[in-house]
Amino acid sequence: MIVDHTGRRFRNLRVSLTAACNYACTYCVPDGQRLLRARDELSADELLRGVELLIEVAGIEKLRITGGEPLVTPKFDPFLEGVMAMGLDDVSFTTNGQLLENKVPLLAACGVKRVNVSLDTLHPERFRQIARGGDLDTVLRSIERCVDAGIQVKLNMVPLKTGNADQILPMMDYALERGIELRFIELMRMGHLAHSAAFDRDFLGMDELLTIIGGRYRYNRTDAAWDSTAVRFDVRDDEERVLGQFGVIANESEPFCSTCTRLRLSADGYLHGCLSSSNRHAVAELLRGPREEAVAGLEAALWRAMGDKQDVAFTGGATVMKLIGG
Ligand code: SAM
Repeated sequence: MIVDHTGRRFRNLRVSLTAACNYACTYCVPDGQRLLRARDELSADELLRGVELLIEVAGIEKLRITGGEPLVTPKFDPFLEGVMAMGLDDVSFTTNGQLLENKVPLLAACGVKRVNVSLDTLHPERFRQIARGGDLDTVLRSIERCVDAGIQVKLNMVPLKTGNADQILPMMDYALERGIELRFIELMRMGHLAHSAAFDRDFLGMDELLTIIGGRYRYNRTDAAWDSTAVRFDVRDDEERVLGQFGVIANESEPFCSTCTRLRLSADGYLHGCLSSSNRHAVAELLRGPREEAVAGLEAALWRAMGDKQDVAFTGGATVMKLIGG
């Protein structure tokens, strides 16, 4: 087992099926890069072999399928079917919801229990400005379809001072009315934001977020799993009845590096141990080779990836979320 000097090990794997996306969110990429795949992306079979070996070598227990946008690639169906047969504790995926509606029967048939949908606003025009693609009604319809099919939905919202701060309460109302957990992801200094004034202009941290939410709702902080990246809260009415939950992924305000158990496998076959490091470790050739060499090579790559983890806080970097799997 790969365990570092602080006791961290890899438990959560994120697999990016493709770097291509049908959005170009302003905080993720400069425009013009949306549908770009990475060069030499792995096939669904190669990615599945990677997952199988990483379960064995790294002790992976939880898996999230992501991208880019995982639903724009035909690899999604065979990858999902393959991975659901591997007996992991928890398999889920993250999507912008644009192509989700038609996938609901497949998700139900495969036994997918949870899906995270990224949604930054309920305002159609603002939606187009932030996502630079897609259609709000289509996303809302696919959320309803998932809920109707008994698939638990979590919403991811990146709060932006100049982009959607006025949408925080409408998003809370929307989520609470439907029994959906809303997760606020603090803006990260990644890619084009790493050294940009846009980060300082738009960053809206947990304290400010809680002040806005506290203007309408009573909330209490609750426990979260030891390696959870989210700070969790429940919302109560005046009789202390719980109305629902929300969470904050507080990369800047309350960093979680010291308990991070995440590992990423990118669509072009690199392992990433940390979002805040531009180091990456090539494993594509290993995944195509004989098993013994693959196991030994992966173990060495995993030690290097573990060494990339920050000890204290996310400091940001040139890495783009869309390329390595958000
Ligand atoms: N296309 C899928 C989606 O939209 O959920 C999966 C990939 S997307 C890169 C995953 C998540 O990363 C999204 O929730 C997005 O909002 C978030 N994200 C991308 N860039 C970010 C940044 N600079 N700061 C915070 N979150 C970011």
